Amino acid sequence: MTETQTLKLIAAYDRARNEYSIIVHNQTPKEAQSYLDQWSRHLRPECSFIVLDQTMQHRTEDETKCRACRETILRSAHIEPPPKFTRRKP
Ligand SMILES: [Zn+2]
Repeated sequence: MTETQTLKLIAAYDRARNEYSIIVHNQTPKEAQSYLDQWSRHLRPECSFIVLDQTMQHRTEDETKCRACRETILRSAHIEPPPKFTRRKP
């Protein structure tokens, strides 16, 4: 079942700094939603979550080192100017 589902990645975007960090990747839509339900209210006001569809499963286990995530953000998040990547989590 999971192979036919679109996997999601979640990033946190900080408007004040124009920075983003990768939170999790390879999430099923259900997992992504429950993450958002759980964590959205804990975010700082200048931060928001960005949820993007992955075109494939990412092979990097540690999402903070995942190059595919970063490419997906830059390609799909449509943030101008392009935000800087940071490892700091919100
Ligand atoms: Zn990834």
